[in-house]
Formats: sequence, C-alpha cells, structure tokens
Amino acid sequence: MGCPGAGKGTQTQRLRKAFGIGTISSGDVLRSHVSRQTAVGLKAKAAIESGELVSDALVSELMLTELEHMPRDQSFILDGFPRTVTQAETLDSFMAASDRPLDLVINLDVPWSVILQRIEDRWIHAPSGRTYNISYNPPKRAGRDDVTGEPLTKRADDNVEVFRARLHAYQEQTLPLLGYYSDRGILYSFKGSTSDEIFPQIHSMLCDFFSLPQESADATAAS
Ligand code: ATP
Ligand code: MG
Repeated sequence: MGCPGAGKGTQTQRLRKAFGIGTISSGDVLRSHVSRQTAVGLKAKAAIESGELVSDALVSELMLTELEHMPRDQSFILDGFPRTVTQAETLDSFMAASDRPLDLVINLDVPWSVILQRIEDRWIHAPSGRTYNISYNPPKRAGRDDVTGEPLTKRADDNVEVFRARLHAYQEQTLPLLGYYSDRGILYSFKGSTSDEIFPQIHSMLCDFFSLPQESADATAAS
C-alpha cells in the first residue's frame, strides 16, 4: 500500500530480487493490456489516463486470474491490489478458498513534498515495469532501459493534472483499507523520503518474519 508514486513498484522489484519471490503488479498488468489493446485494455484505458480507479470487477477478475497461476506453495507479493475495501474482500474470499493466509500488508509512508517531483522525474520501461528517476536513479544510458537498451517512456498518467485525480482516488477509496488491515494486526508501515531509506526497513522486518538471517539484508539492500 502507499499513495501514488510512493514507490510500490520499486520496492516490489527489490523484494523480488532479494527474496526470489513472485510478484504481481496490477498497474503493470493493466498497462500491458492497454498497450496490447485487448478488450480489457480498451475498457481500462480511459480510467487509467484520467487518474481514476478501474472498476473493482475488472481489476479483481484480472488479478485473480494472475493469482491462480501462482504456485500454491510459494509466497508472493501483490503490488497495487487491493485498492478498495471491495477488492480486499474479494481477495480475502479467494485466499480463504485456496487455504492460503494473507500474512502481511506493507504500507509506504512517503512525505507529500517529495511525491510530485518524483512523478515528474519518473520514466519507465513499459514491457518490464522497470522504473527510473532522472534525478536520483537515472538509466546508464540516457533514455534507454539498462537491461534491454529499449527506449524509456513517460506513463500517460504521470503528469500534474492526472496526479491530482490519482491522489483524490487514493484518499477516498484506498486510505480506508489501512484501517481494514490494521484492525486485523497485519499492517506494517514504513516511513522515508526515498526508496533507499525504506527498503532496508522492509527487508529487515521480512527477515524477522520468515526467520531468515539478517546478514543477507545488508548484502541485498545495497544492490
Ligand atoms: P505508483 O506505481 O507510483 O505507486 P500508482 O499506484 O498510482 O503509482 P499503478 O499502481 O501503476 O500506479 O496504477 C496506475 C493506474 O492503474 C491507477 O491510477 C488506476 O487507474 C489503475 N489501477 C491499478 N491498480 C488498480 C486497482 N487495484 N484498482 C483499480 N484501479 C487500479
Ligand atoms: Mg506502481
């Protein structure tokens, strides 16, 4: 969890690397549908580009389909889903039906003052979801993805006007979820102005949670 631009995607990718864990990002799944112009993509495009949430029914169906493909005996991270109480209830029923617990909810608490600049500086490699920030995490070669060398693009919703709408949707529809999960005692919140500040905190909590040695935290935190 975290407001738009809080760094959910960045943390998810780092955790995937550090723990070799499966990840599903609702934003990446949706953007992939939009760029392939699938029926789902055509339905979702207008909402995404105006900064509104895509309908609960559409997102939930997409994400549950992805979840069904995850190996049953492995942990995974969800990025960007659920985003409403209705989606959370759908996820709960799915997890209960497949007899898997939802262990942890991680909230990224990033000051408003740094978020807007971050959105303006963000460039992405759309096919992989890799993100860059031209101020503090630039690609090795300007305008190009480090891994594939393909061109980077701006997300259609990463501009000031659309960002206001995304923030509004977050405050109205997603913030109430924090209460939903903190009441259950599974919400962990981490504060910081950069993803580099927040990552070691999450890493250390997860090492505790899964009883892994903390040394690996320092080794992977730097990468
Ligand atoms: P960031 O990735 O920087 O944290 P973000 O959370 O706004 O920012 P994404 O998660 O990539 O970005 O989502 C982009 C857009 O996709 C959202 O503004 C919304 O329109 C749509 N979307 C993604 N996930 C959901 C969801 N669970 N429910 C409804 N709409 C969603
Ligand atoms: Mg994201």
